[in-house]
Amino acid sequence: MSLKIETVLCRAGVMDNYSYLLTDKETGITAVIDPSESAPIVRRCKELGLTPQYVFNTHHHFDHTDANLQMKETFGARVVGAAADSRRIPGLDIEVRDGDSFMLGQSRAEIIRADGHTIGHILWYFPDDKALFTGDTLFNLCIGGLFEGTMEQMFSSLEKIKNLPDDTLFYPGHEYTMGGADFALYLNSDSPDLQHYLKKAQDRLRKGLPAGPVTLGEEKKCNPYLLAEHPEQLRKILG
Ligand code: ZN
Ligand code: FE
Repeated sequence: MSLKIETVLCRAGVMDNYSYLLTDKETGITAVIDPSESAPIVRRCKELGLTPQYVFNTHHHFDHTDANLQMKETFGARVVGAAADSRRIPGLDIEVRDGDSFMLGQSRAEIIRADGHTIGHILWYFPDDKALFTGDTLFNLCIGGLFEGTMEQMFSSLEKIKNLPDDTLFYPGHEYTMGGADFALYLNSDSPDLQHYLKKAQDRLRKGLPAGPVTLGEEKKCNPYLLAEHPEQLRKILG
C-alpha cells in the first residue's frame, strides 16, 4: 500500500458529493478526485499540509468539476480527465484513455472507461492499493442514472467493476447509501449480507463518517444493480 486516501464531503446536505485526497506516501505527491466545492477541500489540505499537484476527474458533471479551476489557481494543480470529455471538463490539461496508466508518484492508476451515466465517464483504479474511484457509476447499494449512455453500456461498465478483485475497496462520488438501502431492502429484505451491510453503514453514518469504503465483494452481494446478471434484468430493476 503506497496510497493514503482522505475523504472530503462537499456540497454537504445538498448533493453530498465526495472528493478524495490521494497522497502517494513515497513522494508526497497528491491528487484530488472530483473537486466539486473549493472551500472544504482547501480547508482539509491546509489541515493536512497538502498541495494537490493533480485533479483527477471521473466525468464532466458540474458537481464533480466545479472547483477544477480553483484547484489550478490555489495549488497549481493540473487537471487529468478523459480525452472523450476534452471539451466538457473545465481546465483539462492531460487527457487519458481506457487502459492508460497514470502515475501518482509511485502509485499507479489504471483508467477504466465506464460509459452509462455519461459518455466518457472513467473509473480510477489503483490495483496495487486495491482502491477504485467510481464517480457516478457505482454508489453504495445503487448506481448512477443514465444521463447520456444506454442501459447496455451501463451494464457492461458494471461488468468491468464486477470483474475486479473482491477485496478492492470502492470510493463513490456521492453518499447515497441510505437512498439505495430502501430499494435494496424492498428486493432482498431477508438477505443477511444486506442486514450486515446496512448495520455497518448506519453505524458509520451516525458517527458522521462516510458509509464506505466497502469492498467490491460485499457490494456484489448486496447491490441489486450488481446482482443483475444480464442487461434485461438490469432494465427491469431500473424500471
Ligand atoms: Zn454525474
Ligand atoms: Fe454526481
